[in-house]
This record gives sequence, C-alpha cells and structure tokens, in this order.
Amino acid sequence: MTGLRSLPTPVTARAHGKINLHLGVGDAGADGYHELVTVFEALGTPETVTLTPAAQDSVEVVGRYATAGVPLDERNLALAAVSAFRERTGWDGRVAITIDKNVPVAGGMGGGSADAAAALVAVAHLAGMTDRAVLTEIAEGLGADVPFALLGGIALGRGRGDDLTRVLSRGTHHWVLATSTGQLSTTEVYARLDDLRHEGEAEDSARLGEPEGVLTALASGDVEKLAAHVHNDMTEAAVSLLPDIARVMDEGRRAGAHAVLLSGSGPTVGFLAQDAKHALELAVLLEASRGVREVVRTTGPAPGAHVVD
Ligand code: ATP
Repeated sequence: MTGLRSLPTPVTARAHGKINLHLGVGDAGADGYHELVTVFEALGTPETVTLTPAAQDSVEVVGRYATAGVPLDERNLALAAVSAFRERTGWDGRVAITIDKNVPVAGGMGGGSADAAAALVAVAHLAGMTDRAVLTEIAEGLGADVPFALLGGIALGRGRGDDLTRVLSRGTHHWVLATSTGQLSTTEVYARLDDLRHEGEAEDSARLGEPEGVLTALASGDVEKLAAHVHNDMTEAAVSLLPDIARVMDEGRRAGAHAVLLSGSGPTVGFLAQDAKHALELAVLLEASRGVREVVRTTGPAPGAHVVD
C-alpha cells in the first residue's frame, strides 16, 4: 500500500527482583570487590521493559516505583544493556525504552539488574538473535546480579555472585516484603561491613562456607527447615546504617514469620510465610509498622528474563 508506513513493533520483556536466601560475604579483594557465596531466589515482582524501534535511544520510567532516582541517560542499566548488545553483535538499531518499575528502587532486590536483563532479551528478540550464551556473556559485563536476573529461578552464585549454578527446589515460597521509607547504597553497606569487621564487631558471619542447610531445605521443600537456615551477612551493617530495619524485623518476628531476612544489602526485608493464608495475616500485621513504606505479598521462585506477548 502506498502512503502508509507501518508502525514500529514494540517488544516487551519481563525480569524479576530477587531475595538472597543466603548471602555470605568474604573480605574485599585488591580490586575492592567482595567474594560472595549466595543463593538467589527470583520473586514475583516484575520489571517490565518495552523497546520500541526509534530514530534515537531514549528512556522513560513509569509504574509503582518510578522515582527521580533512576538515571535516564546512558547510565540507565536497560540502555547500557542495549548499548552492550550493539557493541557485541554489530546490530545497529535505536530504541525508545519504557521501564515499568515494580521492584523498589535501591531496595536490595536487584531492580536495576532486572531492567538490564529484560532489556537484553527484548533487544535480542528485536534483532532476531537467539543465542542465550551471548546474552549471558553480555550480562556478566553489566553487573554482578544481571546474570541471575537473566536466569531466574533459584541459583547458587559464587565469585561476585555471577558464577551461577541452578539449585534444585520443590514447591512455592510465600513471601511478604516490607519496603522501607529509606534507601541504602550497596557500596555503603559493604563499606560499613568492612568497618565493623575491622573493629571486630561484626558477628555471626557465614563468610564463604557452602550453604548446605539452605540447599538441603530447598530440595526437600520444607519451608520451616528453609526458614531455619536463611542468612545474610549484610544484616548488621545495613541495620547500623538504617536502624528502622531492626524494628521492622522485630515486628515480623512478633507477627509470626517463619524467617525474617534482609534482602541483599537492604533495606527491603522479606518475611517467609507457611502458605498464602499465613502471608496475608503477616501482611496485615506489618502494614502498621513504623519505617515500612509498603507491604507486598509475592511468591518465588519466578522465571528468568523472557519476552511477553
Ligand atoms: P544493587 O544492584 O546496587 O545492589 P539494589 O538492588 O539495591 O541495587 P536497584 O533498584 O538496582 O537496587 O538500584 C540501585 C541503584 O541503581 C539506585 O541508585 C537506582 O537509582 C539505580 N537504578 C535503578 N534502576 C536502574 C536502572 N534501570 N538503571 C540504572 N540505575 C538504576
């Protein structure tokens, strides 16, 4: 047909925020990075990223957690993912990126990494590229949590958290998340952990041992056993920067959560429930807690980054 130009077809992809069922942090290496042993679980809190072919790149952020804190220039991780894809593959398209944020920003749930992973699978779809191994390689260059956001499910991470092995797990986990009125910078929490260890004040450190208890509990599908073994080495450091976290954790314990777990470097706190009914009860009790911005019920494990219709 003459005179009509077809509209560019958008591609939408989704990737999920995560909680670390285990986070063991070693000492900082010469490069400043801490070696980790961690068990990631992807949760049903999605970041939805839409790429529309355009004359030039752009980024907008919409949705529940759209805030001024997310950069809209080349520092944006979704745009960084598209740029890295172009560099690696020679594809030369430009895209308008829309990020629908459902993961709290700077909450320790890897929302930015999920944006990068979703953008990667979306741009690969636009470019007609199907080699997932190449995407994993690009993801490794974008950030330590990006390969897991791409993979999803439950995985053991070593190194900087990007050397991943899938973990066998049975059943669904019911989580209540308490997002915080405060934000924490991951870098600052690591620095505080180093200081506390230096002063001999950081205790209960799991460091780099194998998280046998968590892995066995996941394989058995026993929620109470899992609750008994979840652990996060960052907890003390995060609490010392944002004391409200301790209050929220105590309220979750009092409300009867099986486990109370800081998500990554915080400040989001996860409460593990027995089932959906228990999660609803916990959520109601936590709604009124001081320092809690919002209470979100979700389940895990959730899938890795994928294109949606
Ligand atoms: P980290 O991955 O550093 O542990 P986090 O999981 O706590 O962080 P994120 O939501 O990824 O939380 O936010 C970390 C930082 O990255 C914040 O400063 C936030 O503004 C920024 N950020 C969030 N989303 C994006 C994005 N798509 N691109 C770039 N930065 C982002």
